[in-house]
Amino acid sequence: MRLGFHVSISGGFSLAVQRAHELGCNCMQIFSRNPRGWTVKPIDPADAAEFKKLREQWDIGPVFVHTNYLINLASPKPDLFERSIEQFVIDLERTEKLGAEYLVTHLGSASGREPEWMIERVTVALNMAMKLHKPSAVILLENTAGEKGDVGYELQQVQDVIAGLAHSENIGICYDTCHGFAAGYDIRTPAGVEALAKEISTTVGADRLKGIHLNDCLKEFASRVDRHWHIGEGKIGEDGFRAFLAHPLFRHVPKIMETPKETDEDDPRNLKKVRSLQKK
Ligand code: ZN
Ligand code: MN
Ligand code: MN
Repeated sequence: MRLGFHVSISGGFSLAVQRAHELGCNCMQIFSRNPRGWTVKPIDPADAAEFKKLREQWDIGPVFVHTNYLINLASPKPDLFERSIEQFVIDLERTEKLGAEYLVTHLGSASGREPEWMIERVTVALNMAMKLHKPSAVILLENTAGEKGDVGYELQQVQDVIAGLAHSENIGICYDTCHGFAAGYDIRTPAGVEALAKEISTTVGADRLKGIHLNDCLKEFASRVDRHWHIGEGKIGEDGFRAFLAHPLFRHVPKIMETPKETDEDDPRNLKKVRSLQKK
């Protein structure tokens, strides 16, 4: 099983892959830049080359890049909407320059608007972005917790976006277990995991599932509150993750943890926990 963390790119991309390797990851996720600012420094070609060399040497892959947090592909504000499309394209180009396989994006949010309106908006944005830059990397749409006007909290909403795209060959999904649990997908039991697997298969289709964000959830089931927590220590719990990791639909999909990093012990503990839960 491919298992890794979201790691910091502080000091360069080659340092990020070293961090992943030292943690014992065989896949990883990064931001391509500061996720909370619009400014972008060009990627240093030597750093990108070293990044590619090291990940090959250590067999770390796939690499997921997560989009900038300021991007909102459903924004009702024309300026932000336009800027989000431009910035999404920048993230896509950087993903490809790094030779990363996937770019993960949230769908977007528009408080007070109906989901249908947002779905249409995101569809327009993604169609425009892919017209500006034909992707070679695969764009993964991530399900959300449904917090603060976010769309994409139901798998059917994600599928409605995909169905509206002019080109969907390079589109997949990244399923976040914390977001899904907060949005009402209960994976605490094998029956719940099976129901989720069935819903993925009948909406977006199992083939689109390219990545999993493996996070426990600090808040209650269906709370619509997105608070990631350590694996097995949140409301999903050990039994839930044991069932999830054992399911044939999820077993072989690369998994990235976006769990809190309060101390240096957190990542090794979470990694060990996942490995222990997937045994037997
Ligand atoms: Zn995300
Ligand atoms: Mn996530
Ligand atoms: Mn989250």
